[in-house]
Amino acid sequence: MKAYTYIGKDQLAWVDKPKPQIVEETDAIVRVTMSSICSSDLHIKHGSVPRAVPGVTLGHEMVGVVEQVGSSVVRVKPGDRVTVNVETYCGKCFFCQHGYVNNCTSLHGGWALGCRIDGGQTQYVRVPLADQGLNRIPDNVTDEQALLVGDVLATGFWAARISEITKDDTVLILGAGPTGICSLICVMLHQPKRIIVCEPSEARRGFIAEHYPDVLLTTPDECLDFVLQHSDHGGADRVLEVAGASDTFQLAWRCARPNAIVTVVALYNETQQLPLPVMYGKNLVFKIGGVDGCDCEEILRLISCGEIDTTPLITHRFPLSDIEKAYRVFEEKLDGVIKVALI
Ligand SMILES: [Zn+2]
Ligand SMILES: [Zn+2]
Repeated sequence: MKAYTYIGKDQLAWVDKPKPQIVEETDAIVRVTMSSICSSDLHIKHGSVPRAVPGVTLGHEMVGVVEQVGSSVVRVKPGDRVTVNVETYCGKCFFCQHGYVNNCTSLHGGWALGCRIDGGQTQYVRVPLADQGLNRIPDNVTDEQALLVGDVLATGFWAARISEITKDDTVLILGAGPTGICSLICVMLHQPKRIIVCEPSEARRGFIAEHYPDVLLTTPDECLDFVLQHSDHGGADRVLEVAGASDTFQLAWRCARPNAIVTVVALYNETQQLPLPVMYGKNLVFKIGGVDGCDCEEILRLISCGEIDTTPLITHRFPLSDIEKAYRVFEEKLDGVIKVALI
């Protein structure tokens, strides 16, 4: 089979690889029916993910059909339609038992697929620890509806969950890229009093205005004043920083009211400053990190009953064979792209 492969910095290519086989009894082989491209794939492409292994098949956002399972897999069986989780986790270690699956201590724990082991921008993928890494898709949910469940949507759901949002809150979300919009969709589930989205791109603000008309929109330059004018206690009660630009971490905490929760989802290219003398007395709570992707079953239930719909985010569809073009459109943000589906 042809697999879209990370060769080395700025080099991706189709490589012929054998169809994967069951290696451990906890594995499953999944036939990929739809996959996507994530900004993390671009980070690998540009050599900024040191643990990414040259020669690895890219792709960690996908849905498919189970072809084969190892002898100890009990939660899925051949023929099941499934979402694949970006994270590999055992479900048994200290961190998994506490829901912190991102820090699973098993050999392949954390982000392995499409980084350290072969991923899903191909026809078949081997999923380790399949009882945790796969979730069955309800019959009334399509592949497109489920495509983002295992990665960006899991991230948005987790970010909204740990932000402890109440109905009295003004929630500020910095960044309306795919993860920012997924965070917005999941923040909406908590029904806060107000949601403000800050995004520099006019096209992306337009996307938010079209699909989520109740959301207030601002730009980074105007954000601080806008939030002061549109919040009840001198700043946002909850801030989700999903932008990851060079100055958005500073913007995030400046826009927060005293005693707010600031959840940092973004991954930065540079070290960030925490100016404690200036912050003193603001008594902020920071929650910082990478997704604990253990809510996929609940997310699929919410999609099934119509509470979550990420299909507007899938703006472009390409056959898998056109993946080079899909990468270009996604990376260069051409033609109003938010997410691509590879079929
Ligand atoms: Zn990703
Ligand atoms: Zn674990």
